[in-house]
Amino acid sequence: MAIKSPKVSSCEVAECAYNRNGECHAMAITIGGEGCPMCDTYFVSEEEGGFNEIKGSVGACHQEDCRYNDALECIAKNISVGMHGDHAECLTYESVEEIGEEEYEEELEEV
Ligand code: SF4
Ligand code: SF4
Repeated sequence: MAIKSPKVSSCEVAECAYNRNGECHAMAITIGGEGCPMCDTYFVSEEEGGFNEIKGSVGACHQEDCRYNDALECIAKNISVGMHGDHAECLTYESVEEIGEEEYEEELEEV
């Protein structure tokens, strides 16, 4: 298995300290918790977060019912993040229930 952190290809959450021009600059974000694929790294501050030369990546994901989740890690090529209600959320999330367990198992074998 080739292990590579998925990149955050875009993030619409302009007020987050790690966001510059629609891009995340946090080294490794954490997604998921309390049944929702929220970005737990989201943080509002006057301080700029992250480094300009770094493109944000997913460090870990607790959203175990997502089709791209294996062993609480994200195996998508990349993800996008946006606002959902009052919180930042992974927009790439799709539940295993939607695609079915069989297809999910086949996908994991291909990784
Ligand atoms: S992905 Fe999360 S940490 Fe990165 S800019 Fe968006 S809300 Fe902030
Ligand atoms: S695509 Fe799925 S596994 Fe990857 S970060 Fe988003 S919710 Fe987690």
